[in-house]
Amino acid sequence: MKLIEKKCPNCSASLKFSDDANEVTCEYCGTYFQVEKEDEDKHKPYDPEAFKLHAKVIKNLGKGIFIIWLIMFLFGITFFLIIFLRFFLR
Ligand SMILES: [Zn+2]
Repeated sequence: MKLIEKKCPNCSASLKFSDDANEVTCEYCGTYFQVEKEDEDKHKPYDPEAFKLHAKVIKNLGKGIFIIWLIMFLFGITFFLIIFLRFFLR
């Protein structure tokens, strides 16, 4: 939770409120308005937490793909050897 600053749409006084608030009442003129969350996200070009999460997901995905590839590779070799041995060593 952190404080964000926005201007009142009625009297343009700057208001501070926590970022999890959905509605704000202006303390100067009493205007009640809703907070637009998308607006705040646009001003944040880089979110280190989201970046870390994405890096982790990509890393785990890469690991998963490698393990699947390894299993397929070992299966392939096993099948190849079975067929090879049956064909030439009977
Ligand atoms: Zn106001």
